[in-house]
Amino acid sequence: MSVSNVSQEEQVKVETDMVIQDIEVKRISVPLKKPFKTALRTVEQLESVLVKITCDNGMVGWGEASATVVITGDSIESIEAAITKTMKPQLIGKNLLAHEQVFHTLHQSMVGNSSAKAAVDIALYDLIAQRCNLPLYQLLGGYQKQLETDYTVSVNSPREMGEDAAEYLKQGFNVLKIKVGKDNIDDDILRIQEIRKMVGNAVKIRLDANQGWDMKEAIRSIRKMEDMGLDIELVEQPVKAHDIEGMRRVTQAVDTPIMADESVFTPAQAAEILYTRAADMINIKLMKSGGIFKAQLINQMAEEFGVECMVGSMIESRLSVTAAAHFAASKKNITRFDFDAPLMLLNDIVDGGVQYEGRVMTLPDLPGLGIRSVNV
Ligand code: MG
Repeated sequence: MSVSNVSQEEQVKVETDMVIQDIEVKRISVPLKKPFKTALRTVEQLESVLVKITCDNGMVGWGEASATVVITGDSIESIEAAITKTMKPQLIGKNLLAHEQVFHTLHQSMVGNSSAKAAVDIALYDLIAQRCNLPLYQLLGGYQKQLETDYTVSVNSPREMGEDAAEYLKQGFNVLKIKVGKDNIDDDILRIQEIRKMVGNAVKIRLDANQGWDMKEAIRSIRKMEDMGLDIELVEQPVKAHDIEGMRRVTQAVDTPIMADESVFTPAQAAEILYTRAADMINIKLMKSGGIFKAQLINQMAEEFGVECMVGSMIESRLSVTAAAHFAASKKNITRFDFDAPLMLLNDIVDGGVQYEGRVMTLPDLPGLGIRSVNV
C-alpha cells in the first residue's frame, strides 16, 4: 500500500541543474551630458565592463562593473582580467542551484576587485531570479516596488550650481546631493547658500564631502552650517576612508547625521563602524561590496544596530543601477536612494530594467533584472 497521495502524473518535474557554461565580457564607454565633478575626480564618460553569463539551460544573466580607480581601485583592464582570468575558470561548471557555493567561490577567488565581483554577482542574481520566475526585488524581499532618487549637483561656481539646482527642481527632484570638500569651506557655504536661494526650503539638501576634509575641518564646517540654519539632511564621508576614529569624533561632535560611504566596502568594515558608532548611516554600493550577496549582509547588520542605509551607485549605466535598485527596493532598512547616474548619460544601453519618471523609479515585473536586451 502506498502512503503517498500524489500520483505519478501530479508530481511536478523539477529541473535539477543550472550550470554556468560561459562568462563573456565587453567594454563600453558612454559620454556624460555634463562633466561630473567631486572632491576626488572629474568624469566625462562612463567606462564599464558588461558581463554576460550563460547557463546550460539557455538562460542568460547580465552584469556590469564600472571603473572607479580613485575609490575602488578597479580599472577597466583590471576588471576584465579579474573576471576572465581568475573568476571565470573557477565558476564555469558550477551549479547555480547551489548558489551559496557559487557566491563563496566568487568572493574567495581573489582579494579586493570589488567591482569585478559585483558584475559577476549581479549576473548570477539575474539568473537565479529568472529561474525562480520572480523579479529580483521580490526574490530578495519585495519590500517596495517604487523608489525616489536624489540628484547630484556637481561642484562648480555658486551661480552655476544654483542654476543647475533650480533646473533639477523643475524636473521634479526634491532631494539634491551637493558635492563639497573640493575647495575651502567658505566657498562651499556660498554654493549651498546660492542653491538654497534658488530652490527654497521645499528641497532636502544632503552633502557629500568625498573625504575632502580632515576631522577638525569637518567639525568646524558642519557646525558653521548648523549655526547658519542651512538645514542639511546629512553629510556623507567627511573624512578620509581609513580615518574611522576621525569620523567617529565628527559624528559625536555635530547634530547633523553623518553617513559612511568610502569607509565601508566590506561587512567587516561595516561592523567596525557599527560597533564604534562612527557614523549614523551607511551608504552601500554594489561596486564596493562586490555585489548583492555581501550588500545584504551589511544591510542586515546595520538594521540590527538601528542604522539605516542608503543605496547609491558610482557613474554606472542603467544596467547595474537596475540591480542596485532591485536590492534597495527589497529591504525595509534601506531608506535613501542615490541613483541619478543613468540620468547623466547621453545614451541608454538597456531595454527594460528599472524605469525613471522624474525622481520616481519603478521596478519591472519581468523575472530577474527585467532586462530585455542590451544594445552595445
Ligand atoms: Mg558618496
